[in-house]
Amino acid sequence: MSTATTARPSAHWHPFQHMSAPQAPLVLTDAEGVRVSSADGRSFLDATAGLWFCHAGYGRREIADAAHTQLVRMHAYSTFGDYSNESAERLAERLSGMAPGGPWKVLFTSGGSDGVETAVKYARRYWQALGWPERTVVLSRRDSYHGMHTAGTQLAGIPGNRAGYGPLLTDTALVSRDDIDDLRAAIERTGPERVAAFVCEPVVGAGGVHFPAPGYLKAAEAVCRSHGILFVVDEVVTGMGRAGTWFASEKYGIEPDLLIGAKGLTSGYLPLGAVLVNERAAGPFGEAGGEVFRHGYTYSGHAAAAAAALANLDYLSDHALLAGADRIAARLPELLGGLAGSGVVQSVRTGPAAMAAVQLNAWLLRKDASLTTRAVHAVRAAGVLTRAFASGGLQISPALCATDSELEEIAAGVRKGLSSLL
Ligand code: PLP
Repeated sequence: MSTATTARPSAHWHPFQHMSAPQAPLVLTDAEGVRVSSADGRSFLDATAGLWFCHAGYGRREIADAAHTQLVRMHAYSTFGDYSNESAERLAERLSGMAPGGPWKVLFTSGGSDGVETAVKYARRYWQALGWPERTVVLSRRDSYHGMHTAGTQLAGIPGNRAGYGPLLTDTALVSRDDIDDLRAAIERTGPERVAAFVCEPVVGAGGVHFPAPGYLKAAEAVCRSHGILFVVDEVVTGMGRAGTWFASEKYGIEPDLLIGAKGLTSGYLPLGAVLVNERAAGPFGEAGGEVFRHGYTYSGHAAAAAAALANLDYLSDHALLAGADRIAARLPELLGGLAGSGVVQSVRTGPAAMAAVQLNAWLLRKDASLTTRAVHAVRAAGVLTRAFASGGLQISPALCATDSELEEIAAGVRKGLSSLL
């Protein structure tokens, strides 16, 4: 079937897309479960849960109805100062009990990039308030993705996302993704008394789906603790069940000081993120009469978004979708593993979370810059929606409700699409 076309390019400037890209957009109109359909009448399986967010699946009336009820009652009000709303209060309470190492204070944001920006500002402000103004350096890992705000762009370990802006934030440094000695060396080089925080994703997501080396995260936590460095864990992708636990931190046995969540928090029904700060990291901000962290967003604690999040968490619990994530994680190696080393595929990365990368062949990628786009389109023609990482892998991270037969259909579509490229 033909791709939808428009008479002239769309006025919509798509993220990560050339402003005057010649091809017409794929306009999606309806979705149910893990199936999405387009304006030109085609139906697809969604291999990526949108942009990693749709844990509950599409078309969940329970979530939409909860948001609607809140929207018509009081859609939003400021939560600055002592203002609040019932949904935000309930959601903060619930999150505080869900993350390992609590109780937590929860500061709401509009999404993941806001969360990273908040956490980096917090880390610097924390040390200033404690009387250590020289403690400003924030370390992050190569291959990492921390959103697109100024701090997250500066921390990014994906070179293409970081290049071309000059220094956006002073006092940052990258360390190797999985090498604990490199983290130790960077701290020694900088001087531990200058390091404010270390920021990491438990499983690198947009940087290509890289699961941590055994013991790396616990070792990183221990290194941070031994120097008093704030251990900031970005769970925008891995949080809310994708690793089979509410937070991947629990699965990997780590207790962050700050924890960042978004995406699966509402399954994308409305935009919402959160930064969790535990008692240990509350420092001067947690003390009676202590300092105020002068930070927040217009939509921090947005009432309808919080109501959607509460209904989404209920949905994930009621439908045992954390177990669903474990089931998907267990099936992906068997469904995709056979692709490795054949045709255009070099390797397949899987691990203990419902996410994987089908890595295209490095030599072919060097020879043909259009390979990743062609791969995405070929898989789409075979009925599966995915996207390519900058590092040349295809993202597989279905909704946590994907059934075994839907997973098999996704794998078959990926296999069929990629084999058509030969
Ligand atoms: N952190 C991580 C690990 C992410 O993967 C993302 C987005 O993909 C972000 C932060 C930014 O989130 P948002 O796009 O909601 O701002």
